[in-house]
Amino acid sequence: MALRFFNTLSRSVQEFVPRDPQGKAVDLYCCGPTVHDFAHIGNFRTFVFADLVRRYLQFKGLAVRHVMNITDVEDKIIRRVRETQTPLRDYTAKFEAAFFQDFQALNCLLPHDTPRASEHIADIIALIEKLVARGLAYRAADGSVYFSIEKYQAAGAHYGRLLKLNFEEMRPGQRVSADEYAKDAAADFALWKARVSEDGAVFWPSPWGEGRPGWHIECSAMSMQALGPSFDLHLGGEDLIFPHHEDEIAQSEGAGAQAAGEPFVKYWLHGAFLLVEGKKMSKSLGNYFTLRDLLAKGFTGREVRYLLLTAHYRESFNFTLDGLQGARAALARIDECMDKLTEIGSGSETAPSEPDIQQRFAEAMDDDFNVSAAWGAIFEWIRETNKQLAEARISPARANTLSGVWAQINEVLGLYTKQEREMGEKLDQTLQKFLDDRAAARKAKDFKRSDAIRDELKTKGWAIEDTPKGPRLKRL
Ligand SMILES: [Zn+2]
Repeated sequence: MALRFFNTLSRSVQEFVPRDPQGKAVDLYCCGPTVHDFAHIGNFRTFVFADLVRRYLQFKGLAVRHVMNITDVEDKIIRRVRETQTPLRDYTAKFEAAFFQDFQALNCLLPHDTPRASEHIADIIALIEKLVARGLAYRAADGSVYFSIEKYQAAGAHYGRLLKLNFEEMRPGQRVSADEYAKDAAADFALWKARVSEDGAVFWPSPWGEGRPGWHIECSAMSMQALGPSFDLHLGGEDLIFPHHEDEIAQSEGAGAQAAGEPFVKYWLHGAFLLVEGKKMSKSLGNYFTLRDLLAKGFTGREVRYLLLTAHYRESFNFTLDGLQGARAALARIDECMDKLTEIGSGSETAPSEPDIQQRFAEAMDDDFNVSAAWGAIFEWIRETNKQLAEARISPARANTLSGVWAQINEVLGLYTKQEREMGEKLDQTLQKFLDDRAAARKAKDFKRSDAIRDELKTKGWAIEDTPKGPRLKRL
C-alpha cells in the first residue's frame, strides 16, 4: 500500500510520491531548535514526529536525507545575549549541546546535516541579493531589507499558500520587522535587519550595511543550500505555518531557482500543538517541562518518546505525568513479552515469517501515520503472543521470528533494543556527567584523565566523537 498523509499545501491527504524518478531517495527538512534556552516538551513533540517520519520512510526502503537547521541568530537569542552579556557563540553553544543530548535521550536519529544560521550568512546574503535583483525585495531607509508581498503577488505568485490571508486588510508598504507576528499583522517582512545598538556584537557586513538576517530567510537559504531549490518534505510544528513557512515559500520561490513547474517543497507536514496537564504550557502555571525536568522526576527519555508517539501528529495532545506513568506500564508489557521471546529463542533457526502484524502496522502507518491503529495492532499482537507463551506454544525458532518482527517494527518506533534499553536508561542520567568531566579534563589539558573517561564510556557501549559541533556520543 502507498503511504498517504496530509499535505498542508494542498490541505488534503495525498499519496506520497518522491520527486526522485527512481522513487528511492527522499529529501526531508525539519525546522530545528532556536537555541535560546532548553527545548521544551512541545518542541520535542515535533522532533520525535520528524524522527518517526524519517524512520518510517526508511522502513519502506527509501533513502532519506534529513536536514535540520540550528537557529542561532534570531530575536530571542539576541535579547538573551544582551541580557547575559555573553558572546553569541558561547551562549548558543551551551543550548545547542543540551539540545543534542535531549535529542539523543529521546533516541531521535541524528540528521545528516545540521547547519547553523551563523555559518551560512554568505548564502543568506546571496539569496537576498537575488530577491532584490528580481525586484521582490527592497532596502528601507534604515538599511533593513524587506520582502515586498505586493511585488511578489504582482509577479503572479500567491502569498497565502499554506493558509488563507485577507489581503484587503493589508496596506501596501506596511512592514513588520519582528521574527514572529500574527496573521493579522502580515506585511512586508524583514530579510535583513539593519544593525541597531541592542544587537551588540551580533552583526555582519552586507551590501546593505551591517546587520543580521531575519529568521525566515535563514531556513530558505539553508534548506536550499543543503537539499537544492526543490525537495520533497518540509516538517515543523503547526505554529510555524505562519509566518515562518509561508515566508519560506515566498522567499524560496521568489528567488526563482526551481525548474519550471517545480515547487520549493512538494509536501508540507505539520505536527499539532501539545498541551500539558490540560493547558497551554506556561512557566507561571507550573506545567512547563523541558526533557531535563522530566528526567529529574525519574522518567526516562524512552518513556517520554513513547508517550509522544501515542498520539496522532495532527491532533493536539494532552501530555500528563499520569500519562508518563501509563507509558512506563505499557513499555513494561512490551519488554516483558520481548524478554520472554529472547529467553526461549536459541540458535539462528527461524520459523516461517509472520506477515500479519507487520502488514497491519504498515497499513496503519501508511494511513497518514495513524499511530493509534498501529499501537492497537501491536498490543493485540502482544496479548496473543503472551497467551501462546503462557501455553508454551512458541518454539525457539518461532520465538526468533517474532523477536525479528518486533525488531523491524521497533526500528520505526525507536524504543531501543533490550541492550540499548539497559545502557540507555542508566546513561540518561550519567551521560551529562561523563561529558562534563571530560570537557573539564581537556580544558585542564589532563589528557590522561580525558582518555580514561573515553575508555570508561567505551566499556558502557558508547564511543565519543569530537566533531566541529562539539563532542557526540555514538552507540558502539
Ligand atoms: Zn525554519
